[in-house]
Amino acid sequence: MQVNRRSFVTKGAIAGAAATTLAAPAIVKAQSTITWKMTSAYVKGSPFYMDGPGSATDLARRIEAMSNGRLRIQVFGAGELVPAFEGFDAVRAGTVEMNHANSYFWTGKTFAAQYFTAVPFGMNFQGINGWLYDGGGIDLWNEVYAPFGMIAMPCGNTGVQMSGWFKKEINTVADLKGLKMRIPGLAGKVYSNLGVDVKVLPGGEIFPALERGVIDAAEFVGPFQDRRLGLHKAAKFYYTTGWHESATVSELLINRAAWQKLPRDLQAIVENAAAACNVISEAWCQRANSDAMEDLVKNHKVIAKPLPDAVIKALRAETDKVLAESIAKDPLTKKVHDSYFAFKSKYDRWSEISEEAYHVTVRG
Ligand code: CA
Repeated sequence: MQVNRRSFVTKGAIAGAAATTLAAPAIVKAQSTITWKMTSAYVKGSPFYMDGPGSATDLARRIEAMSNGRLRIQVFGAGELVPAFEGFDAVRAGTVEMNHANSYFWTGKTFAAQYFTAVPFGMNFQGINGWLYDGGGIDLWNEVYAPFGMIAMPCGNTGVQMSGWFKKEINTVADLKGLKMRIPGLAGKVYSNLGVDVKVLPGGEIFPALERGVIDAAEFVGPFQDRRLGLHKAAKFYYTTGWHESATVSELLINRAAWQKLPRDLQAIVENAAAACNVISEAWCQRANSDAMEDLVKNHKVIAKPLPDAVIKALRAETDKVLAESIAKDPLTKKVHDSYFAFKSKYDRWSEISEEAYHVTVRG
């Protein structure tokens, strides 16, 4: 029902309270509320993912505020409505309209999903956004999910993660042999090829396992999140810049049929709120990580340094092999891989004389 605001205001002003009471339901009807459910792979209260600037709850708050309450998103942490890693199936079935997580959890459904979260030796925050927003990345993401009736968009980013915590110093590739390490995904496969005994543990189990010596090393996220788990109390060597997760993207996964039913202005609000969270969450990580890193080194005697060059070289060689095997198995993965790395090689050449050169020049 169309409401002529001008005539309502005029009549209301003349007739007083009675007209206001009568007219109010018409406005409520015109501004009908759509309520969507959004699940997450992370438990309620998780910093960055569920709470804080650019998180899932912040995304919901922004959508509701921008739409003046026309689109409400009910946010459910892992385990509240569905278990952590069942968001993909819930959105696919339409049980919920959206899920907030990382696409690399879905590599068992479609391997190409890996590229929309992080690829070892991949692009940084600026580069990956260039590819996603302006280099065809989001279109490919939607192509990968088309058979499942879903679309996706970036809605958060951790920035570069850390290589992780080791109880013993790593000086050579041979030091990796037999090491029991928590590291999921493709990077785990790469370490495994170099003789690491790879363990996959959820976040909450990392600290007790590292402390008790069930594992000798672990990667999680970065200084803020790692300190929160207490990993610095169980291992002293903190290997810095994360070759395995250069800019880990959070994914907003949406049921395509629900999306198509959404009025165009509400679609634009969701897209813009997700883009805002993508930037704001990364900004939060930069601030939180620089504070936490200083604290870890100054107050907790953590030894922070990069992995030796020879180790990085070996990890890179194994990564190339693992990626080559994956693209040989699946044409869609190859299509996404080729797009990602074509963009990366151009971006690397540009970045070398722009962003990277800037840091080197300024540092002197
Ligand atoms: Ca990680």
